[in-house]
Amino acid sequence: MNVEKLRSIVGEDWIITKREQMENYLTDATILAARPEVADEVIVVKPADSKEISEILKLANIENTPVFIRGGGTGLCGGAIPTMDGIVLSTERLDRIEEIDKDNLMVVAQAGVTLGTMLEAVEDAGLFFPPHPGDEGAQVGGLVACNAGGTRAVKYGVIRNFVKGLEVVLPSGEIVNLGGKLLKNNQGLDLLHLMINSGGILGVITKVIFRLYPKVASSGTLVIAYDNRHDAIDGVPVILRSGVIPLAIEYTDRDVIEASAKHLGMKWPSTVGNAYLIVMLIGASEDEVYTQAEQISDICQKSNALDILIAESKTEQADILKMRSEIFSGVLSVAADGLDVTVPPASVGILMDKIDEIAKQFDTTILMCGHAGDGNLHPLLLKELCDKGIFKQVKRAIYQAAIELDGVITGEHGLGLIRIPDIDLYPGGKTWNLMRGIKKVFDPNNILNPGRAIP
Ligand SMILES: Cc1cc2nc3c(=O)[nH]c(=O)nc-3n(C[C@H](O)[C@H](O)[C@H](O)COP(=O)(O)OP(=O)(O)OC[C@H]3O[C@@H](n4cnc5c(N)ncnc54)[C@H](O)[C@@H]3O)c2cc1C
Repeated sequence: MNVEKLRSIVGEDWIITKREQMENYLTDATILAARPEVADEVIVVKPADSKEISEILKLANIENTPVFIRGGGTGLCGGAIPTMDGIVLSTERLDRIEEIDKDNLMVVAQAGVTLGTMLEAVEDAGLFFPPHPGDEGAQVGGLVACNAGGTRAVKYGVIRNFVKGLEVVLPSGEIVNLGGKLLKNNQGLDLLHLMINSGGILGVITKVIFRLYPKVASSGTLVIAYDNRHDAIDGVPVILRSGVIPLAIEYTDRDVIEASAKHLGMKWPSTVGNAYLIVMLIGASEDEVYTQAEQISDICQKSNALDILIAESKTEQADILKMRSEIFSGVLSVAADGLDVTVPPASVGILMDKIDEIAKQFDTTILMCGHAGDGNLHPLLLKELCDKGIFKQVKRAIYQAAIELDGVITGEHGLGLIRIPDIDLYPGGKTWNLMRGIKKVFDPNNILNPGRAIP
């Protein structure tokens, strides 16, 4: 690696060559037991803009050096971890919100802006960005590269639904602009959407234009307690076809949400039940939210709800969202992995029952949370499975169950690096070859994020 050339591109202050100074750049939020090993020879660079990124990628092509893009490092499947000798390219200095365009309802943010910073700026401008993938330290470039989902996708969808424009530095070093502040755009093949969920293998995203919505006038969060998972999940398809479209329908086991509350030093509001639905509602007025809440309460009572609480104040609602968002952090000490299986929304109850059967078959407990309204479950596999030597078997049994229900092994976290070894279970066939062909067109020397996102 030509360190001197890299130094001359980014400047002396923005390169790290000493291992002891780069620890924060070498891992992501992948659960420790599943985290891939870091390579020996790594250099971290922190370019200031797309021009410097272009120079770095041109150099990497000449020298055939792998480049690993690092956003906020909150990814859960090892995508940002440098597993081969090479360059870690951090986007942290691309940290400016360039514009909040109130007339077009768009925000233009550089890739290194964190979700938390963007949400605050958008709210200050009196507008609303609905998606909320749990960790607000994620950067907007990372959110697009992973097509993140999160808790608030039932009504408005995942990140993909909000991306209108991108600036991308291609692996060749060319800088391209895709899309714009447009609500309609049929000019040619849709390369913008090809970049979304590309996991950083097709280019470095340097700027994002997201669509915004007007601020909601009123909101409320229901916490619905059930005796068991089965009852809780049974109500979900009924809610989905009731005509009320909640912002979010989340599921969590009691033990899981209480671990998160404990980790945060907070208190989970419900004292009854073993399983919960969290339903977030928004509306143009308090009355509208109340009407929705009543309709949903009626449905849930019919599916054996034990208790229904409504959080009305902004603080209470924010606290519930925080406890839900931090679930992965709360179970770190006991979990070996948090899966991300997704099935058609109406099949989520069947998947849940199949996972319960798998737990029985292997004589273990599989904790559970997930975005129930999106058909997206996060079964949490305990470390004891590794000790018993059955971790892989249990994981693959769950994947198989999801695939048999016409689902996928990852709905929102992406394949990254750690999900690829199990993709053989999915009958992808020709589609993987097409994806490999696309990668070759963009990155013939395979320098950018090699080994991830596609098998
Ligand atoms: C507590 C917690 C809760 C979470 N909850 C959710 C959730 O509910 N839903 C959900 O979908 N995810 C969730 N995540 C996962 C994570 O926040 C998202 O995957 C997020 O999109 C990652 O963004 P990042 O900037 O941290 O990316 P990183 O972790 O830095 O990178 C992730 C991948 O994107 C690539 N990448 C990063 N930036 C760029 C860029 N500018 N250009 C091209 N490629 C890039 C990296 O190379 C890597 O492959 C959660 C994570 C945590 C820790």
